[in-house]
Amino acid sequence: MKVIFGPVNSRRFKKSLGIDLSPNEKCCNFDCLYCELGKAKLKYENNSNLSVEYIINELKEALKIHKDCDYISISANGEPTLYPYLDELIIKINEVKKNAKSLILSNASTIFDKNIQKALLNLDSVKLSIDSVNPKVFRKIDRTNIDINKIVQGIKEFSQIYKGELILECLVLDGINDDEKDFIALNDILKDIKATRLDLGTIDRPSDYNVKAASFEKLSKLASLITNIKVNIMSRNTNINKYDDLLKTISLRPLSSQEIDEKDIKMLDELVDKNIIKCVKINDINFYKLNKSNSN
Ligand code: SF4
Repeated sequence: MKVIFGPVNSRRFKKSLGIDLSPNEKCCNFDCLYCELGKAKLKYENNSNLSVEYIINELKEALKIHKDCDYISISANGEPTLYPYLDELIIKINEVKKNAKSLILSNASTIFDKNIQKALLNLDSVKLSIDSVNPKVFRKIDRTNIDINKIVQGIKEFSQIYKGELILECLVLDGINDDEKDFIALNDILKDIKATRLDLGTIDRPSDYNVKAASFEKLSKLASLITNIKVNIMSRNTNINKYDDLLKTISLRPLSSQEIDEKDIKMLDELVDKNIIKCVKINDINFYKLNKSNSN
């Protein structure tokens, strides 16, 4: 069974070695319209019979080859918090990970469970999805019978006790969960959630369902409605390769270096040199903002 994959390079999690807790089949309590794993029956338990010992031995072997990973990410062909020995697994990962950070990529469906919260407290980073706070829209996009209000309450509780990096993620589909009213409601909820940032993205690969990606303009507009937390737009279709486009985006909201292609960063640095925008470092990430002293 292949439980270790990668390392995968991404702007968000740099060089990341993955652990797949359901290597044989999709095991998820959601059936999202955007899922790249295809349609599947909802599952609420992970019965893969993977032992912690087996996973850790595989991880140790992989770490001998890939010594310089930034993250060890716990994911799954589905939802990793359904794995029955998560608590023990995280403790053991922390014992062998050396300089890498431990991370879980979860859909947040179990975050109201105190045992899950207790397990996740031991991770360096936790990524939780929140595609809509509107119950009707949430059920439409994530196709589950789990109550979004319970999930939101769980995220709030967890964020109050968690000391690591908490990243929220919202994946937006055209005409499905892109209503501005729902983002204003999300912003209001974010007042009570202590998170590092919200990653706002859309699909860039086909799904089994007939859904369309949100445009970069739409993502920018929705991001501008979120004022209670930092937002990163994660779209790969940004197409922001002209000064005008960059400036238009930055006038709506600060843009982080993680949202921008290497070639565009060079362009931004030129705008900084010209004193049109400025670059501010927050939590080791460069944010590009309009230089107000220059804009009338
Ligand atoms: S939570 Fe992830 S794995 Fe589960 S259906 Fe949604 S996209 Fe697929």
